[in-house]
Amino acid sequence: MVGLVVVCHSRPLARAAVALASEMTQGQPLSVEVAAGLDDTTFGTDAVAISEAIAAADNGDGVVVLMDLGSAVLSAELALEMVDEPDRVILTPAPLVEGLIAAAVAAASGADRHEVAEEAANGLAGKISHLDGAAASDKSDADGATRFTIHNPHGLHARPAARLVTTVRGFDARVELRNATTGGGWVPASSLTRVATLGALQNHELDVRGEGRDAAEAVRAVVALSASCFGETTADEADRRHPGAASPGIGIGPALRFHESPLTLPDVPSRGAAHEWGRLQNALADVRRDLSRLHSPIFDAHLLLLDDDDLLADVRARLDRDEPAPQAWSAATALIAARFDELTDPYLQARAADVRAVAHQVLRALLELPAPTVDGDGVLLAADLTPAEAAALEPKRIAGVVLASGSPTSHAAILTRTRGIPAVVGAGPHILDIPDGTLIALDGGTGEVVADPSDPVLATFRERAEKQHVRRNEAHARAADPAVTAAGVRIEVGANLGSVEDARTAAVNGADLAGLVRTEFLFLDRTEAPTTDEQVAVYREIAEALGGRRITLRTLDAGSDKPLPYLPPPAEANPFLGVRGLRHSLAHPALFAEQLRAIVQVARETPMSVMFPMVTTVDELKQAREMLAEAGDAPGLQVGMMVEVPAAALRAAEFVPYVDFFSIGTNDLTQYTLAAERGNPDLLSLTAGLDPAVADLIDHVCRAAGDRVLVAVCGELAGDDAVVPRLLTAGVRELSVAPGLVPLVKQAVRAH
Ligand code: PEP
Ligand code: MG
Repeated sequence: MVGLVVVCHSRPLARAAVALASEMTQGQPLSVEVAAGLDDTTFGTDAVAISEAIAAADNGDGVVVLMDLGSAVLSAELALEMVDEPDRVILTPAPLVEGLIAAAVAAASGADRHEVAEEAANGLAGKISHLDGAAASDKSDADGATRFTIHNPHGLHARPAARLVTTVRGFDARVELRNATTGGGWVPASSLTRVATLGALQNHELDVRGEGRDAAEAVRAVVALSASCFGETTADEADRRHPGAASPGIGIGPALRFHESPLTLPDVPSRGAAHEWGRLQNALADVRRDLSRLHSPIFDAHLLLLDDDDLLADVRARLDRDEPAPQAWSAATALIAARFDELTDPYLQARAADVRAVAHQVLRALLELPAPTVDGDGVLLAADLTPAEAAALEPKRIAGVVLASGSPTSHAAILTRTRGIPAVVGAGPHILDIPDGTLIALDGGTGEVVADPSDPVLATFRERAEKQHVRRNEAHARAADPAVTAAGVRIEVGANLGSVEDARTAAVNGADLAGLVRTEFLFLDRTEAPTTDEQVAVYREIAEALGGRRITLRTLDAGSDKPLPYLPPPAEANPFLGVRGLRHSLAHPALFAEQLRAIVQVARETPMSVMFPMVTTVDELKQAREMLAEAGDAPGLQVGMMVEVPAAALRAAEFVPYVDFFSIGTNDLTQYTLAAERGNPDLLSLTAGLDPAVADLIDHVCRAAGDRVLVAVCGELAGDDAVVPRLLTAGVRELSVAPGLVPLVKQAVRAH
């Protein structure tokens, strides 16, 4: 691949330009070096730094150098005199930003250095054409061409255009495009700068035609890409996917709800106003606690009712007249509900149901009635689920769950996902008014819920269910095949293991490797550390279960959050910020050395990688590597580190010389980046999903790694097929996930 060098007076400017260009290459790796500024803040250019950057960027296919102005050009010329093979280097007069983007797309798709330089030099063509408002007119008809429409809201702007160019360049064909709506001329689809001159806006019609061996296939690919908005998510799609989609899958069945034992008011006389008032206060406190847990505006009205002065005054007056608490509460709330019933506005009328629901809840608490249960099979409709309720749902009986409250990151949503039950959350309180037994169809992937669907609607849900079933079966049928993206990039999909049993499951599910073996499983829950021999036996067993595929052993990740009984940790106020991961191993060198010896011994017999958890500084990594070297030689042993501390992510470039790979632990990286403890259920809105700040760190790590160091992700996010495309675009080349998810993640890679 042709290397690129960015010469610029400002280092931040050069880095930003590289970041922008990298976004355009659809995750294809680039060989790009920056020689800019005298340091992070001082403007200037340095010929020696440029010559070094050229040497670093050159993988044998030559280098194209982009410069800003003035001394940048002079320094670059001087640098040419210092490099070994100046003939392989082209200094291009291209504009820095536009030229770099065009060059990056061309280089990433395999163009030679002359083509890359030409693309870069044409970098302004799109802008010129746009501002002149005129592409050359070509009246020739569309004979032999296929017409398609641009659906992207912002037209064929840089990112979708880059996707188009990259795709076209993958075929043995000369493909051309023209804008039929504006009547412009034909331009080569392999040139980003020329595609930009099409000025293709949303709803414009474009013609595509091709020549050469793969022409028909290339044209089909372009049309297919346009149908998928060139991989861009449209605002509509984002909206459609957004709030309710909680757990993918189709659920069809009769509406069910928690079965509550019938409520009859016991005929027990009052034990005095004060006592009855105390009973009521306790019940109100219980319900208040339950409702607050729902964290939803839907239930705020319910909460308000519990503190309603008028209502409570009425109840108090009734208690003073010697009514027992259940009767007083029941009568007072019935009056309020009846007042709502009398209103003409349908929205306000519906509030009567709210009043009755909360009144009911308080009565149950007052009467200490048992928790509700679900009877029968079907789709469960409920206000929300406690974690215990969600965990108790049986996937064989519950075809789906629809919750009035909650978000996709709520505990209930996550639990339905792990249990494989399709679910829609945040559906609104009206779902609680649907009569029992009504047929419900839901799509947990889109958030759609239909009550009493018509036959054609039901048929579409059944069709989707069938397709998903087929998809799952297909994924399993292809589980053992390699995962290759549509652009031809092979992605290793490995499994995260915490036992020998997991290794067997991983093998059955077609894992390409074990991307993370959490070796602590061997060290916890016992009274003394495992011996070297014991460790060797288990590591060997894992390697054998995986049939000789590479296993990545992570050294012991202990600390006061995962304490070892035989090495009791000191009390720490914040175990996650304490002596954990590699810090713990370095603090207990004898234990660490023993593990490293076991690892080296097995690495002599089987393909193996070793990685260190929670690395924060280069110095720690160097110490670990020294200890590894002392443990002995194992040719072929790959050495890596987990990137799960933001400091390590931000300084990734400094770790590059000391590792063969990075493995990003998104679980901890998210926790530390967002200052949100990973196990805290109240912080799921922060910790579930890929936060943009974490995505930025992942991008940064991939850029720092370049071609020199492989980047893997082994945190839970690697198993989220909505996140996989983003990771691949960033440049991640290996994913390691729960063993059962391997087939589906491979499919997500293939679809990218
Ligand atoms: C991570 O932090 O993302 C990770 C994979 O490690 P663990 O979950 O074992 O901390
Ligand atoms: Mg971790």
